[in-house]
Amino acid sequence: MIVDTHCHLADDAFDADRERVILSLAQNNVGAAFVVGTDLAECKKAIELAEKYENIYAILGLYPEYAEQYDQFESFLEDNLSNPKVVAVGEIGLDFHTEGYNQKLQEEVFAKQIKLAYKYNLPISIHTRDAFDRTLKVLKDNKQYLHGGVIHCFSGSPEIAEEFIKLGFKLGFGGVCTFKNARKVVDTLKKIKPEDILLETDSPYLAPTPHRGERNEPKYTNFVLDKIAEIRLENKEILEKQILENTKNTFKRFSI
Ligand SMILES: [Zn+2]
Repeated sequence: MIVDTHCHLADDAFDADRERVILSLAQNNVGAAFVVGTDLAECKKAIELAEKYENIYAILGLYPEYAEQYDQFESFLEDNLSNPKVVAVGEIGLDFHTEGYNQKLQEEVFAKQIKLAYKYNLPISIHTRDAFDRTLKVLKDNKQYLHGGVIHCFSGSPEIAEEFIKLGFKLGFGGVCTFKNARKVVDTLKKIKPEDILLETDSPYLAPTPHRGERNEPKYTNFVLDKIAEIRLENKEILEKQILENTKNTFKRFSI
């Protein structure tokens, strides 16, 4: 059994068939899906889904590019992080990809959410884009507030992977590792330990081969697992079991 530790089932892309997607997870070997929020509206929907469906859990946080909304967002987090179906704070972090970003504000909001996660005994799910150095800096500066978590959609080198692993983080891998040009991710996947790996889709984005370009779904996590086993020359069943253990060890409120 596998778990999709990062998907956006609250996204409009699932409005037409969300229930069908969720109810068909089990028959596709997906035991649970963690629905991630990026702003207030998506987080509210993620909570609703987690309360409605047994196999859905919520990850709540403010996406770095929305950092200026944090003042209105904080009380929502405080009100909801004790919910037993909330398994992490995320996706939070830094995104310096789009021009005009406010680095200082993003770093402040990232640090505030790290501290809130600590207060509620939760791990964090990190989004980092064009910002590995500063992400590591914020994490190191807040080391006493870390309860582990995951670097979602990890795309860095083995050396950067090692830095995050040293801070207690797992690395989340999705469709990107199935793409032809994914040399760096493949290199990292060959070098890290099986204990460091988590599976995800980031649905509806980044569908793995052979569905690249289509809407992604949690059931496609199976293609990611197949590819990782192939890259690492490992027995798929053993790897699958190990990754489920990693998932439980990281997200302590999740049980199956
Ligand atoms: Zn995401």
